[in-house]
Amino acid sequence: MKTYQQWQEMALNLTLPNQAYIDGRFVDAVGGAQFDTVNPATGKVITSVAACDERDVDIAVTSARKAYDSGVWSRMAPADRKTVLCRLADLVSEHGEELALMDSLDMGKPISDAFNLDVPGSAACIRWFGEAIDKIYGEVAPTGGGALATVTREPLGVIAAVVPWNYPLDMAAWKLAPALAAGNSVVLKPAEQSPLSALRLAQLATEAGIPDGVFNVVTGDGPGPGQALGLHMDVDCVTFTGSTSVGKRFMSYAAESNLKQVWLECGGKSPNLVFEDADLDLAVDFAITGCFFNQGEVCTANSRLLLQSSIKEQFVEKLLARLGSRQPADPLDPDTQMGALVDAQHTENVLTYIRKGQEEGAQLLCGGEKVEVNGAGSYIAPTVFDQVTEDMTIAREEIFGPVLSILTFENEDEAIRMANGTIYGLAASVWTENVNRAYRVSQRLNVGTVSINTVDAFSVMTPFGGTKQSGFGRDLSLHALDKFSNLKTTWLALR
Ligand code: NAD
Repeated sequence: MKTYQQWQEMALNLTLPNQAYIDGRFVDAVGGAQFDTVNPATGKVITSVAACDERDVDIAVTSARKAYDSGVWSRMAPADRKTVLCRLADLVSEHGEELALMDSLDMGKPISDAFNLDVPGSAACIRWFGEAIDKIYGEVAPTGGGALATVTREPLGVIAAVVPWNYPLDMAAWKLAPALAAGNSVVLKPAEQSPLSALRLAQLATEAGIPDGVFNVVTGDGPGPGQALGLHMDVDCVTFTGSTSVGKRFMSYAAESNLKQVWLECGGKSPNLVFEDADLDLAVDFAITGCFFNQGEVCTANSRLLLQSSIKEQFVEKLLARLGSRQPADPLDPDTQMGALVDAQHTENVLTYIRKGQEEGAQLLCGGEKVEVNGAGSYIAPTVFDQVTEDMTIAREEIFGPVLSILTFENEDEAIRMANGTIYGLAASVWTENVNRAYRVSQRLNVGTVSINTVDAFSVMTPFGGTKQSGFGRDLSLHALDKFSNLKTTWLALR
């Protein structure tokens, strides 16, 4: 791992992609427009990137369709697609420093997290789906004599992947890897805050042997290329990760256009339930990571800490003592655990929530303020509110920043009722040494993932997604392939 100074030097000399990537090459937006991508740690412009509009989206979708129809990828033997995807995974690892640095500069996350977690996670995801794809069989229906009916999985065609900025490389990989493995063509739209790593990934995909047009990247904002993809008549499926409000728009776009399939991974307000028989020291450490990792900009962030009232006092005392070491610092310093928030606007939104928490009567225990690092940047100190009640805004709405709300419960039933009392259903954590209680409570939590005696558990081997207004798609695991393929029945009448 590079030193602080080495990362700073590398940042100065980094070659930055700044055009869209369509049909295997970098191109300017048709209209010639550009937008600035800004480093939130310094407030300085990193580079200006092509601002695509519906014309660019149309060119990208046409290219993706042409590649799909040609069969160059869609009808390639799965074992050969596997070889190419494994080569791409290798290239992601080889260029890990560059990719990690692009994400850190774009959206402010600590370089050590980007390099040690996001890059290996993305490479592993691409490799896993590549390796899986030549081990999946179709079915033969039990028709009896006189017919042979097969049920096979076929790619959908052109997939639009629209992703957020909190894990730019990972989110791209979670969508791309199963979509490409299944034989589709993809048009990826990264968030306007974090376009760089997606563009570099597309270039690496070409180097790995992904044919031209099979993987395209259009850059720009949501109402521009995002909406154009949602409304496009020749996109077969949108896989979206982002906020619930934009997720709803994608369902409208599909209804207004060609009834494309829409898979949504949206927001969350995940509860972390700590019972009095939990291993408190462990639970305190994980309550901190669960809420403040990635500056709290995590869809599954355990932002509601539900403590059994008998342990509340000692828990909060330990939590505040340990939180001291997790303060915002320069993302390029490998020792930094907490970086900058994605941009000035989002920082303002988080501060508004903090003010609302105070106005509505919650007790601010620490943080609550914007801080500067090296005299600049969009940083907020880890913020903890006590005396939070279920009706308060900070207990109900997704803040997507470093803000923890503490609530208390008396018994299991109350804990479950409070945990489920939200429009979201992405994840929950349960802390107890009683295995019966652990499983009993987990069964009654209306969420996609329950982590027992840990937080935010996920793996490429297990499905990831939510219930209620957290969406209904599932990323990761073999189940993700269901999103990117159709079941085809072929019935042969035998003579
Ligand atoms: P966002 O919804 O603002 O943007 C997500 C993507 O949608 C971006 O690419 C954006 O450009 C695009 N977009 C925005 N407005 C659009 C519009 N009108 N039409 C079409 N496209 C549009 O979300 P964000 O701020 O980038 O990310 C934060 C959100 O993402 C949080 O709500 C978080 O919970 C969620 N998220 C969910 C998961 C999950 O797996 N469930 C993972 C990470 C983040």
